[in-house]
Amino acid sequence: MLYGKWRPRGFDEVVGQEHIVTTLRNALATGQVAHAYLFSGPRGTGKTTTARIVARALNCLDLRNGEPCNRCAPCVAILKGSALDLIEMDAASNRGIDDIRDLREKIAFAPSDLQRKVYLLDEVHMLTDGAFNALLKTLEEPPPHAFFILATTELHKVPATIVSRCQRYDFHRVPNSAIVERLRFIAGEEGFSVPAEGLLAIAIQARGGMRDAITLLEQVVARYGMAPSTDDVLAALGMVHDERSEALAVALVEEDLGAALAIARQVADDGVDIARFTRETIDVLRDTLLKVLGAPRPESPQHDAAARVASLALERGASAPRLAASIADLAKADFRLDPANPVPLEIACATAILGPGTSAAPAAPSAGSAPRAVQRARPGPGQPAAAGPADAALSAEEAFMRELYERCRTANTVLGAWLNGSCEVIAIGQEDLELGFYHPLHMQKVDKDCRTLVEQQAELMLGRAVRLKVRQVERGSPASRRAPKGGHLVEAARALGATPVAKDGD
Ligand SMILES: [Zn+2]
Repeated sequence: MLYGKWRPRGFDEVVGQEHIVTTLRNALATGQVAHAYLFSGPRGTGKTTTARIVARALNCLDLRNGEPCNRCAPCVAILKGSALDLIEMDAASNRGIDDIRDLREKIAFAPSDLQRKVYLLDEVHMLTDGAFNALLKTLEEPPPHAFFILATTELHKVPATIVSRCQRYDFHRVPNSAIVERLRFIAGEEGFSVPAEGLLAIAIQARGGMRDAITLLEQVVARYGMAPSTDDVLAALGMVHDERSEALAVALVEEDLGAALAIARQVADDGVDIARFTRETIDVLRDTLLKVLGAPRPESPQHDAAARVASLALERGASAPRLAASIADLAKADFRLDPANPVPLEIACATAILGPGTSAAPAAPSAGSAPRAVQRARPGPGQPAAAGPADAALSAEEAFMRELYERCRTANTVLGAWLNGSCEVIAIGQEDLELGFYHPLHMQKVDKDCRTLVEQQAELMLGRAVRLKVRQVERGSPASRRAPKGGHLVEAARALGATPVAKDGD
């Protein structure tokens, strides 16, 4: 295991915790050592490693400036894990009062193979109240040969009485630059060749944990060999970078629906994991938003892409709320039903650009002609704004449309979504069902991809086969209100009577 091999052997090798190791080294060098230490901090930041260095330094026969020699018999015994007087306890599995009582009984005995007994209690916050009380008594008057190092990832769960008995050190997340430096050193020693960008990606993924970073490096090399490319690293970390995510972010900022849909289709055709691609686009947009807000994350892998998109967004006057809305729209895309299907991404792009409550935009969505300042009304249509009394005001056509949408969506979440607030009933004829769409994109999608679905569900509702006819209308225009009132709608309303119109929520 790479981590075990490169575990720091001296204080000078502990990365990112200089504030702690300097103090400890000085205390050990001058013999002013406390009998109880409390190390708190996130996992993998060096608490246990530092505790073992302290244990060696307390017993080293050749201590130099507070650093253990790692060669004398006590140092070697501790390094090998064979020293009887370094007692490591995991409080997560030995948390009861009996475990601590046992410790108290044995602590009085003189050390057997070392000069000093060192008790390392990991995850000490897991102890029971009774165990804490027993421990407290020991901490109040430890025998001169006994030293305690308590470690915890959850300091707030350690009783104040215990904390006050200890000299406390807070371990920090290791800065990415320090992790990268250490990884570069290890890679050099091991003969790995990893690009700087790849090392940074590993550091970011490790979230300040040195142990995780080294383990990730090991996984990358195990999978891609000694000289992985940046793409290999990103792939191993599940951070594949697809430049089209930036292109899609640009299309969303420019409100170019044609370009956005073309990218979504192309990505799907290439067999790319669309959910991951969508998340990556969200990452670019999120970093863009932060940059627009003046709080960029220079360490993000999407930083360069976001910087380019952000300058474009600022140029085009794209507002922060607008970017946030686009992120929210993309985040709603659900790929669980069919991971290879780009339709949820297409719908998300359409919603982000056109807005769910936009009035009809007669111009076809093509590069450069997309509407710029779209009025966005949330929540969108298709989501009943208010259940109950409001439903009574629904016309038979509206009730029919809502029921048709619900049925189609239930039958096929992905396709049904194209009907969400995108159209209205114009006419229900003996043989035809005519729907009017507010936007040509929705019309084409339903006409082409959802025809069978709509016709099947309409047949179930009406009890007879109807053929779907589509045309474009303007929302709320007189043309769209020209529905012939007549028997068929009454019939439709009756068909709906079997199911309650007022469906609460959505
Ligand atoms: Zn030594």
